[in-house]
Amino acid sequence: MSNDAVVIIGAGQAGLQLAASLRSGGHKGPIDLVSAELHLPYQRPPLSKDYLAGAIDVDGLHLRRDAFFADKQIRLHRADVVVAVDRTRTSVRLQSGTELRYDHLVFATGARPRNLPVPGSDLPGVLTLRGIGDADKLTRLLDTAGPIVIVGAGFIGLELAAVARARGHEVTVIEGLERPMARVLSPELSNHIKTIHAERGTQLLLARTVTALHDRLGRVAEVELDNGVRLPADVVVMAVGVVPNDELAAAAGLSVTNGIVVDERLATSDHRISAIGDCACFPSSHADDRMIRLESVQNAGDQAKFVAARILGSDTPRYDCVPWFWTHQFDVKVQMAGLPASDDQRTVLGDPATGSFSVLRFDDGVLNCVESVGRPADHMAARKILASRARPTLETASEPGFTLQAFAKGGAQPCAA
Ligand code: FAD
Repeated sequence: MSNDAVVIIGAGQAGLQLAASLRSGGHKGPIDLVSAELHLPYQRPPLSKDYLAGAIDVDGLHLRRDAFFADKQIRLHRADVVVAVDRTRTSVRLQSGTELRYDHLVFATGARPRNLPVPGSDLPGVLTLRGIGDADKLTRLLDTAGPIVIVGAGFIGLELAAVARARGHEVTVIEGLERPMARVLSPELSNHIKTIHAERGTQLLLARTVTALHDRLGRVAEVELDNGVRLPADVVVMAVGVVPNDELAAAAGLSVTNGIVVDERLATSDHRISAIGDCACFPSSHADDRMIRLESVQNAGDQAKFVAARILGSDTPRYDCVPWFWTHQFDVKVQMAGLPASDDQRTVLGDPATGSFSVLRFDDGVLNCVESVGRPADHMAARKILASRARPTLETASEPGFTLQAFAKGGAQPCAA
């Protein structure tokens, strides 16, 4: 087993999983996990769902209790930040002045919300959502606020809209594209989401952009759109995507393009340094080997497990876990497996009108992505199928009686991260 010193920058979903997998895999050397956060490592998905809705408290967010770190001899440096990487000395310097030497250094620095560069975006009452502090601030504001405007109809924007509607707020979501979640979801699923929100009273303004935010007595009060309309707003949430935290890697001379560039084994050009999770840009076999960056719990966890295994001596030639994702809005759970092609072909199993259906998406006639609503068995079968070479064609999947579960019984294997 390895006695190497491992330093991990960032203790989110990816960094924590890496530390845990190293120890459970038998790693004997020192592990330093540097966390910019004061909180114990926590999961972010509930921040826009159960935590914001008040269904769970902060303890329910923590990924591990305090005792875990002492038990596993993982040195967690809380509320400290790596400010410099010295690749010649193979060491990092923390804001506190501590210097840590490494044999392996792993960037798990995540991402931060993108700002919308419009006048007024820095007014009090305008927020983004990434951490516990953001969610707590939003909760306090929601307690007294009237109308809420959310900019961006992506996952986080629509999840927030669902929680705010359930709390009785007047909610408007503004989206620049023609349909919600257009970059990732099929038109069929986008329409379903649109209907769900419309039925529950979310006002969704599509193909509209925000041009300015206006204040009253120093707080945000109105959102101005490109057609000149001004919407009243007590709270504005900017949910317009994230940017990877890759500046530290760039300053260390590593290649950075939409995240920290890594190879198929998630290593940078410096073989001692890797990057995982939201900050990593990697070649994906599920996207024709294109360089992509994914923002999901699955990606963070599986990449962490892969790098832990590599540090422990595995020679698996590439990371190729099937990407999957979920979103929860009102009482509807949507699950996705695989990555869609831009010019895909599609067929639908089940009936959208019943709220239980799956959209099968094909690239060059071969299945590469499945979106499911209320059909968890389809989702699990899709993950198995997409991990294998045996995939149904559009023709096969269009035959009467076709099911993903029956097809998956053909022996596909789950991900070997
Ligand atoms: P992060 O969780 O961002 O962790 C990175 C950590 O590194 C941060 O704490 C950061 O402060 C720290 N850091 C950065 N630089 C330094 C430094 N120099 N020194 C020390 N520390 C540093 N995914 C899903 O799959 N399903 C969902 O339903 C879902 N919902 C979401 C809802 C919300 C509100 C958000 C914000 C995200 C959601 N996601 C969801 C995405 C998912 O949470 C992320 O993909 C995942 O957390 C990424 O993990 P990570 O470890 O790569 O990054």
